Amino acid sequence: MYAQGIPMEERDFFDEVTETKIHTMICPHCNQPGEYELNWLVRRKRAQIPRGADDMDRARFAKARSYMVRRDDLVGCKNIRCRKRFEVVGIQSVADLQPVATGTPENRAERIRAAFGRRTLG
Ligand SMILES: [Zn+2]
Repeated sequence: MYAQGIPMEERDFFDEVTETKIHTMICPHCNQPGEYELNWLVRRKRAQIPRGADDMDRARFAKARSYMVRRDDLVGCKNIRCRKRFEVVGIQSVADLQPVATGTPENRAERIRAAFGRRTLG
């Protein structure tokens, strides 16, 4: 139970899990695309506010949105002739989990190409 008057912490509003997602990235050293697993800390907003919430907590809960935070900043190139480490680019470090209007899958693919294309295909 929560004592009256003590603000709830953000983690009281979310179920927290670590998930691995696969992202296609291009190594800046050898320009080879590869699929890399990145760890994300996923915070899903709970369906219900925890018991003991006061008005302030309720307002914060109403505004809270599910989101995920990228844990990995560096990956090792999978090209065995390269194997250099490089920084994750083109992937946001905090992402919304809501079903955002991202357009068609084609649009999305195009955006990904745009994000990667300039530096690697030029
Ligand atoms: Zn490489």
